[in-house]
Amino acid sequence: MDYQRILEEIADEVKPLLKNGVVANYIPELAKIQQDKFGMYLLTLDQEPYAVGDYDEKFSIQSISKVFMLAMAVGKCKEKVYRRVDVEPSGDPFNSLVQLEYEEGIPRNPFINSGALVVTDMLISNLSDPRGEFLEYVNKLTGQDDIRYNEKVAASEKLLGFKNAAMVNLMKSYGNIHNDIEEVLDLYFDFCSIEMTCHELAKAFRVFANHGKGVIDSHRYLTKSQFKRIAAIMLTCGFYDEAGEFAFRVGLPGKSGVGGGIAAILPNEYSIVVWSPGLNRKGNSLAGMKALELFTTKTTSSIF
Ligand code: GLN
Repeated sequence: MDYQRILEEIADEVKPLLKNGVVANYIPELAKIQQDKFGMYLLTLDQEPYAVGDYDEKFSIQSISKVFMLAMAVGKCKEKVYRRVDVEPSGDPFNSLVQLEYEEGIPRNPFINSGALVVTDMLISNLSDPRGEFLEYVNKLTGQDDIRYNEKVAASEKLLGFKNAAMVNLMKSYGNIHNDIEEVLDLYFDFCSIEMTCHELAKAFRVFANHGKGVIDSHRYLTKSQFKRIAAIMLTCGFYDEAGEFAFRVGLPGKSGVGGGIAAILPNEYSIVVWSPGLNRKGNSLAGMKALELFTTKTTSSIF
């Protein structure tokens, strides 16, 4: 398969879409990003890379970080994680509060904000230096040592993070947040502020495409069963109230972030990452979704 030619074709085909969509502006630092950026990186398990556009430019991974949070929490706390966060699609926006009240403080899944906030709380309870150890985990998964938080982005989100604060307070009232509210929020904003390139994210997600085992370091980050569950949650909940649409159009487990990134995997085959900052109404990269749809259609590769 001529993957390189396919990626170049896709970059051309989505070009007219780059001006559509809206860059996330509820985080003021993200609103400054140039809208017409586009990068794509494909990494196969046999280590062949294919890339196009701005694939080596750092961007804010935002909610893609929720996959790393969950993987680390499951590695530490095992199945206990799923007692405090459910695994059902929410069908609501990523920052919605409504279901928390009738679910008595148990978030619908770990990939909406409320769920990731509970996972952050678990990491605080189980690690001596959660901020440092999380970054170390992401670096190790990627095979690097220079991935960092962007403090300006975290501070900018904190300034206007009233809905996330409301969620933590509500969950605390039901006893599902065990640590200090400010500490949970600060750490969650830091986790979301990590900056990576398409290339770096593809390396990290290749570990998931390899069922949780490092391709380079052979380290077992997740058992096969832990991986299966995380991949299932990516497929059913990775795109909030557009998870069905993503499965329908693309057909891969994946995760998006409001920085405009999407990381997806075909287990046993490849990881693929796309970045285009213009978001659709559901908060997912508009051209990014189209690019991945074109990729799985042109290559007839999906989990189905
Ligand atoms: N940090 C963002 C928030 O909490 C993450 C949301 C996202 O990427 N969907 O709103």
